[in-house]
Amino acid sequence: MTVKIVKAKKYDVKSLENLIRDAIKDVGSDLKNKKTALLKPNIVIAAKPGSAIITHPAVVEALINVLEENGFEDIIIGEGPGVGADEARAFELSGYNKLAAKKNVKLINLNKAERTEIKWKYGTIKLPKIVLEADLYINLPKMKTHGQTAVTLAMKNQKGLLSRADKQKFHKLGLQEPLVELAKVVKPHLIIVDAIEGMEGEGPLNGKKKKACVLVIGTNQVETDMVCCDIMGIDHKKVEHIIEGIKQNIGPEVPDLTGDDIKEVRTKFKQANEKYGRFLNVYSWRNPYACSMCIDSFSLAVKSSIWSPKHWITFLPKFTYYAVLKHLYIIQGKHAEVPDVKGRVVCLGDCTKEIAEKNNLTHIEGCPPDSKNILEAL
Ligand code: SF4
Repeated sequence: MTVKIVKAKKYDVKSLENLIRDAIKDVGSDLKNKKTALLKPNIVIAAKPGSAIITHPAVVEALINVLEENGFEDIIIGEGPGVGADEARAFELSGYNKLAAKKNVKLINLNKAERTEIKWKYGTIKLPKIVLEADLYINLPKMKTHGQTAVTLAMKNQKGLLSRADKQKFHKLGLQEPLVELAKVVKPHLIIVDAIEGMEGEGPLNGKKKKACVLVIGTNQVETDMVCCDIMGIDHKKVEHIIEGIKQNIGPEVPDLTGDDIKEVRTKFKQANEKYGRFLNVYSWRNPYACSMCIDSFSLAVKSSIWSPKHWITFLPKFTYYAVLKHLYIIQGKHAEVPDVKGRVVCLGDCTKEIAEKNNLTHIEGCPPDSKNILEAL
């Protein structure tokens, strides 16, 4: 197992193609006698290529060109956007519809893919048949920080392979441990981490763009994620799913590195606040059992209200009042707790119905709640 670090300043398909071609050889990934490839980028929500939220399509295009040179006949891009995301819009806005049409490759919504049931630690899990059967499964994460798992890299990107029910089950199980178990049952043949532009702070959706100007290419998820943490200035020993992966022998304790010197590409990524995400006086309380789409539903609702004139005189003044003059605390997910704070607490999503009733708090239903429900409830 080897991980290659490759400096890459911009999303230029031609130069990325050359870097990826060499890196595939250097990490010992074998493309010979293979015909089908499943490429799994991160397209968690509808976001533009330059948003730093999704894997940039230029990286995927460069990889497709390399696979075509090597005689691949069936190249498929597959992703299952997050629970509650507008899937059609996610593929359109991200540029992946355009890329699939340009390269004449299939783009598949894994949330609707045919699934095979396999056994794992928690009983059975349904994984996309197309991923399990491809000659080559390539995991293409974006380098980002994450409010619940510290980082989202190769291991976390695999969550997009799951059915909606399994995605929610993951959160109910506490996220980090099931990520390790998932890494045992589905193993990519190749990993290419898009870290030309990553995200720091309140990732995976609300952080700031952070240029790392690098691609990280490997074949082992734990090892590749460990190297990415080092580049991000984050101690991998403090990232639960990575350290657990090492303990359970899914990856080596010390990575085998090649390519550019890691010292030259290290760039400190600011981490997400461990207790809460915050915008002015609006706090979204962290809970490992809450799904990302529930966590981000409130900020998505605020963003959507900006484009809706009706809400300029209803929701936005009220939101501004709380955000500037008062305090608003949002809780979500199973096992949510009411924070010991002064101010209004709002319970988001079906998982918090009981706690809202028990404590006489505002409850917004939905799994996850949609923007309309949130705006109306407030
Ligand atoms: S209510 Fe929210 S946290 Fe609970 S299962 Fe649904 S999306 Fe996940």
